[in-house]
Amino acid sequence: MANTNSVLIIGAGAAGLAAARDLAAAGLSVTIIEARDRVGGRVHTVRDESFNLPIELGAEFVHGKHPALMKLLDSSRTPFSDVTERHWYFEDGVVSRSNDFWNKLTALFDLMSKEKPDQTFAQFLDSLPDDPETLRAKAVATRYVQGFHAADIRRAGVHGLVAANEAEDHVGGHHSFRVATGYETVLQRLNEEAKQQGASVQLNAVVREIHWNRNNVEVICLSGERQQRFTASRAVITLPLGVLQEKSKTHAVRFVPELPEEKQEAIDNIPMGDVARIVLVFRERFWEGLDLARTGAQQDLSQLGFIHYPEAAIPTWWSLLPLRAPVLVGWAGGTRAEKLLRMSEAECVSEALRSLKKIFGVSEMSLRKWLLQSYMHHWDTDPFSRGAYAYLPVDGLNKQQELARPVQNTIFFAGEATSVGHIGTVHGALESGQRAAREILASL
Ligand SMILES: Cc1cc2nc3c(=O)[nH]c(=O)nc-3n(C[C@H](O)[C@H](O)[C@H](O)COP(=O)(O)OP(=O)(O)OC[C@H]3O[C@@H](n4cnc5c(N)ncnc54)[C@H](O)[C@@H]3O)c2cc1C
Repeated sequence: MANTNSVLIIGAGAAGLAAARDLAAAGLSVTIIEARDRVGGRVHTVRDESFNLPIELGAEFVHGKHPALMKLLDSSRTPFSDVTERHWYFEDGVVSRSNDFWNKLTALFDLMSKEKPDQTFAQFLDSLPDDPETLRAKAVATRYVQGFHAADIRRAGVHGLVAANEAEDHVGGHHSFRVATGYETVLQRLNEEAKQQGASVQLNAVVREIHWNRNNVEVICLSGERQQRFTASRAVITLPLGVLQEKSKTHAVRFVPELPEEKQEAIDNIPMGDVARIVLVFRERFWEGLDLARTGAQQDLSQLGFIHYPEAAIPTWWSLLPLRAPVLVGWAGGTRAEKLLRMSEAECVSEALRSLKKIFGVSEMSLRKWLLQSYMHHWDTDPFSRGAYAYLPVDGLNKQQELARPVQNTIFFAGEATSVGHIGTVHGALESGQRAAREILASL
């Protein structure tokens, strides 16, 4: 019989580390089991040697001021900077005013309601009139739901989007920050806090099977060729939804006995969104020397923040302002990411340069001459994420509640996909880990 005060945490991302820290602080014996050789999960920073810059491959922005994340940033004295709110929205190759974009988006989102029966976002758009002004608002909203939520509008449910908007408003999520030292340093800090409280972390340990009965869990994992077994009275599962959905014999994590039918149904029916994100490091900030008068952009190009150019294969780009670095980040979410994710990195770079050529009106040859380095991570095929982040389908709030529900007070679930409203964010993952820790403490 396992020690009643012992907990295994599967996964050392934001959710797992937060649960580990809080449970260890409450005096429990905590072991985190992590497949990768690092903590942080979908928060992953690498360093570009030419400019000694932190380059994010996963999460980059701190959206708003969620108290759990703010507390961590404060305690670690992590320097962070405001992200510029300068957005240029192109329509048919010409810059439109950015407040037009937000006004259209907000007016359309205000029409969504949790009081009416749920429907897909595509059905909701179809229910609206087709006059030219509404059609433009629909195009703007479609781009936002695909880009920000990484969602397919034919699957994303209106109730889930309303919950996300409410949660975002609650933390002031329209205003973003960037961690100057790289986002992964925040997760490393959380790991330090967990370890100071007595938690231990096993890296390079890939969980293959989770055997369980009430108050007893045995986890079997592989560290290289070596099999390891860990036991405890409780487990917190923070595996990404894409990993829980995996069916292949070689990669799936097997629960013995299987999870209850309602839980499995929730796992199988909440979609995991896709994102193609590419970071291009140039020799210089070439865009500052360009004249974009043809597009109607009269702003100072040294203040270039975000560009939204729907006709480009990679439609969203941003600079690292206020840091004046020769770096541009490209982003395509949801169905717009699918084609890019089937390409090799070299093909994605070519597609990225073709997109920038469209936007800036410079030749691909010049862009190649300026290009020093590219960075990209395929989260979709990464065996330890299998996608970027989750979004809710029709009636998804109920499914999400089911996903988060503990099983026999023995197996607890956390991770961004379980976080109501804050789904798909680091602070949502953090909050879910803390929620699972409270559930465990209440169950003892
Ligand atoms: C490209 C991209 C950009 C993003 N941008 C932002 C952003 O700007 N702002 C924001 O707030 N959020 C962003 N997100 C979302 C954010 O990164 C996630 O919501 C959050 O990091 C998820 O944390 P988690 O703990 O739920 O999962 P994870 O961080 O994925 O942690 C789960 C852990 O489980 C481990 N694991 C998986 N399988 C196994 C196994 N078999 N055995 C043992 N361990 C296993 C994984 O290695 C991982 O460490 C972004 C995500 C992506 C992919």
